[in-house]
Amino acid sequence: MSGVVLRGPLLAHLTRCGLPAQVERSSAPLAQLGSQCKAFSRSMSVHIELTVPPPQALLKPLVVPKKLLLGPGPSNISSRVQEAGGKQVIGHMHSEMFEIMNEIKAGIQYAFQTTNKLTMAISGSGHAAMEAALANVVEPGDVVLIGIHGVWGERAADIAERIGGDVRRCVIPPGQKFTLQEIEQALVHHKPSLFFITHGESSSGVVQEMDGIGPLCHKHNCLLLVDSVASLGGVPLYMDKQGIDILYSGSQKVLNCPPGTAPLSFNNKACQKIFNRKTKPTSLYLDMSWLSNLWGCDGSPRKYHHTTPVTGLFALREALAILAEEGLEKSWKLHQENAEYLYKGIQELGLELFVKDKASRLPTVTTIAVPDGYEWKDITDFIMKKYQIEITGGLGPTIGKVLRIGLMGINCTKTNADLVLGALKDALKQCKKSKH
Ligand SMILES: *Cc1c(COP(=O)(O)O)cnc(C)c1O
Repeated sequence: MSGVVLRGPLLAHLTRCGLPAQVERSSAPLAQLGSQCKAFSRSMSVHIELTVPPPQALLKPLVVPKKLLLGPGPSNISSRVQEAGGKQVIGHMHSEMFEIMNEIKAGIQYAFQTTNKLTMAISGSGHAAMEAALANVVEPGDVVLIGIHGVWGERAADIAERIGGDVRRCVIPPGQKFTLQEIEQALVHHKPSLFFITHGESSSGVVQEMDGIGPLCHKHNCLLLVDSVASLGGVPLYMDKQGIDILYSGSQKVLNCPPGTAPLSFNNKACQKIFNRKTKPTSLYLDMSWLSNLWGCDGSPRKYHHTTPVTGLFALREALAILAEEGLEKSWKLHQENAEYLYKGIQELGLELFVKDKASRLPTVTTIAVPDGYEWKDITDFIMKKYQIEITGGLGPTIGKVLRIGLMGINCTKTNADLVLGALKDALKQCKKSKH
């Protein structure tokens, strides 16, 4: 190669920058071209200035404070999960990655107690799984019945409406759970094709009894969709045995995994609805005809759909492995025992549990009625500032009504219960009563 020809836009640009047009000649030696290019780039830096400078904040090292996360999520992650999530990336379409995805699938099947083939982790937080479930099962005009006993039913109703569902709300006060009679009455009245209910209502601290709801829904020709984001691994739940057609969860609560991957499973009846739709789901990202293939559920070679959160999936794999090693029964028992220990301590402080019925209390997230005279935020702020412990206020219908304490997965210990009780006791002494 003896010379380089410059034509078109680049030549026009060089000429505009004041460079001699002779570079056009095909005989221009490379050395000459090199020096002209240097002049070109110098002139570029003169003529094109950045209007946004590098942010000063990014020129300092990353700071992540150490905190004990005893709110309703996220919870702290174990060092084993942390290490898995810090490994080098591999390709999302590599055979080793598919193997890891198969292991995750088996881990979710165990955690859900299901043999459903269409089982996977959605790339996103719990909300993404909620959207994925609704977007695939609901078609415009479908009647969707939503049980609302806290904020999560409200969210599901909002999503179902955006999809074009004909949403019917069945609302009970936060702190209570649905009876089978209430559910059956609503099913008879509305004749929905889908019923949504939250198992662990983390905004109110209620665990919904699941036995009997599946058979009721099926008797009335309706699919059952359940949110188990705050309960999975901490409270008994049996997808197949309880007749749950669609179940989803999240990674950052009892599983002690970073947020960003969300277990989701559909049984055959739900698949019949999904794969006989008249319309495509409005979301391509969450479309099960793509995702069932990507997760190796349809028997065909996997095709690229989107780049999965590879390291997030490593972390989820380890979190599910830890649950499998420990065993569900042991984990359920631990959450129940430590929750009861916490209830006792709360009552000894003279505080009142928000959920009156003992059997309705969600072991993973405990709600305390905001003590008379106190501003809830003064208490949570004080505990964060002095102890670096997170507890939170209410959410949705419980805002201003409750304080929430989560003891989930590795955070579910008597030591942590004692720590938060001590911090609460101190807060009650130090925070001023500002309300009358
Ligand atoms: C936390 C939570 C969610 C939402 O999960 P994100 O990961 O924050 O999207 C949904 N449902 C319940 C019951 C939850 O506790």
